Amino acid sequence: MTRPRPVIAIDGPAGVGKSTTSRELARRLGYTLVDTGALYRGVALAARDRGVSWDDEAAVVALCDQLELGFASQEDGTARLLLDGRDRGDDIRTPEMSSGASQVSAYPGVRRALLGIQRQLGEQGGVVLEGRDIGTVVFPDAEVKLFLTASAEERARRRVKDLESRGIVVDHDELLAQIRARDEADSTRAIAPLRPAEDAVILDSTSLDLEAVVRHVLELVESCRSPAIDTP
Ligand code: C5P
Repeated sequence: MTRPRPVIAIDGPAGVGKSTTSRELARRLGYTLVDTGALYRGVALAARDRGVSWDDEAAVVALCDQLELGFASQEDGTARLLLDGRDRGDDIRTPEMSSGASQVSAYPGVRRALLGIQRQLGEQGGVVLEGRDIGTVVFPDAEVKLFLTASAEERARRRVKDLESRGIVVDHDELLAQIRARDEADSTRAIAPLRPAEDAVILDSTSLDLEAVVRHVLELVESCRSPAIDTP
């Protein structure tokens, strides 16, 4: 299928800068931004709201069928999660929901339920999707695939700063341990584990600033828009 505008897949582990990079890319290109992690967080939050244990796979999967998940676009180009019509954009951004999302995202039934929504949001192109398996599972035919990496220490430092800017105080070492646990769970799960697609560009952002990463992706977008023309 040829799309008039590309699908940009940004995958990578927790705290690597996917959100900031994706937001900036979407803003500069005028593309839609889809934060797929927010959907898994939404499932974890809905389970907690309704007293469904994250350990109860069958109940969590059954819950997915009853949920209405979507996004409300904001003027600044970002989108906030809507759960059953209510804005829960802040409620999903806690360390507790990070763990819950990681746990429920390992259930095949949950991944199946969220696959359709993600594809629907991106199929027209002109979209930046960030997640763990966008380039491998959700859009294996994405025109641009980036897999971002950075050391766990650097990622914990960035996350602490980000949470603090929103008034959430966390202990650095505790967060580092949590990030390592999530890395382990996300990359060893049986279904759609965190790994780069074979044709993804892998970029280590440990010592790169946002501008350098964004510029790199913009170059990839540019080269997929204007394929080299063979001259005789
Ligand atoms: O990206 P974010 O930290 O919000 O994602 C929360 C959790 O959701 C991740 O740790 C991961 O377990 C899960 N996730 C996933 N596949 C995605 C996006 C997120 O499994 N595409």
